[in-house]
Amino acid sequence: MPQVAILGSTGSIGTSTLEVIRHNLDKYQIIALTANTDADKLLSQCIEFKPKYAVLLDKSKALHLEAQLKNHQLTTILLTNKEDLSYVVQLPEVDIVMSAIVGSHGLMPTYSAILAGKRVLLANKESLVAAGRLINDALKANPKASLIPVDSEHSAIFQSLPTDFATNKNGINKIILTASGGPFREYLKEQLVSVTPEMAVKHPNWSMGKKISVDSSTLMNKGLEVIEAYWLFGTDLDKIDVVVHPQSIIHSMVEYIDGSIIAQLGTPDMKTPIAYALSYPDRIVSGSSKLDFSTLSSLTFEKPDYERFPCLTLAFEALKTGRSSPAVLNAANEVAVSLFLEHKISFYDIYKLIKSAMEYFGTRDYSTIDEIIAIDKAVREYTNSIA
Ligand code: NDP
Ligand code: MG
Repeated sequence: MPQVAILGSTGSIGTSTLEVIRHNLDKYQIIALTANTDADKLLSQCIEFKPKYAVLLDKSKALHLEAQLKNHQLTTILLTNKEDLSYVVQLPEVDIVMSAIVGSHGLMPTYSAILAGKRVLLANKESLVAAGRLINDALKANPKASLIPVDSEHSAIFQSLPTDFATNKNGINKIILTASGGPFREYLKEQLVSVTPEMAVKHPNWSMGKKISVDSSTLMNKGLEVIEAYWLFGTDLDKIDVVVHPQSIIHSMVEYIDGSIIAQLGTPDMKTPIAYALSYPDRIVSGSSKLDFSTLSSLTFEKPDYERFPCLTLAFEALKTGRSSPAVLNAANEVAVSLFLEHKISFYDIYKLIKSAMEYFGTRDYSTIDEIIAIDKAVREYTNSIA
């Protein structure tokens, strides 16, 4: 039975992954679960899934959690260091790693899992945005490793591409990423100036963590996904399009040179792409509800508005500029989003801070993960200092 380690098990993707596994207890076993601060949720997950290892980074809660694990007669080994995230994914008995930590904190453990030749299910798009070239180099150098998309758009594209797309791109004309448009799709620029974090985290179709919900409201999420698609599928930038599709039923599409378009459809529920990533190339039950065509009134499409949502432009620019630019974009965005969530800056300040950071840092070459981590740290410090 494949042994699964879940990085970020207490988050939105982490809990959906455990829900899928709950439907497939005869097929997967949990070996490691990790969280940042949510000790209560981690404890209840340990009670249910009895992992060999649990990682909780919040040391102030670790002693209490350790005692509670003992009270429940669990033999789970509790670890508390950042480096333990990389340690648990590299254990020889681990087969599958769900990478579902939010933000660039997910980079090092994701990279470590690839170096150890694991099958990595990638939800943590930020790591591919920041270090796409290094991750692809690591995949080439470790043929046992694989990277399977979890993001719904990329899962849709993965399911719509020919199986030999890595070596044969001849028939592919375009990759079309769909975007819901987020909660502010119909807002005027004047209204966007005063939107609050509470409004931004209420996504119309998807239930997600706070950071990605804000990213969806600025369309930065789509920008990060364009960069993610570029590295996952090796597609030229001019062959990646974005179309707004407010119903989130078509999760993305591939257009071929003969005019055919192959799309993947379903209800907006992350359990479907998570299940596919776990079971690929087979299929398993995911627990998500089935799409009922008789209740769909219409599927609509429109162009993204780059003027009202300029973060999308910044992401295209970062990818075009290349080298360290996407890592700068990503780090500045993470800082700006958390400042917005803390009510310290306004909605459009997110864009302004990222733009300033991109101008200040420019772009440069990198050749190691440590360099990317250093860039990430410097950009975070700078962005915080100018906010
Ligand atoms: P959540 O905020 O819901 O969960 C984040 C997880 O990461 C939690 O387990 C959290 O622990 C942990 N975590 C947070 N900070 C750190 C840290 N510094 N070090 C280690 N662990 C940490 O996020 P989501 O599940 O929504 O998103 C996770 C990733 O998946 C993101 O990269 C997102 O872009 C991507 N994704 C999410 C989708 C969704 O539907 N939610 C869809 C597509 C992609 P704790 O609970 O203790 O804070
Ligand atoms: Mg997505």
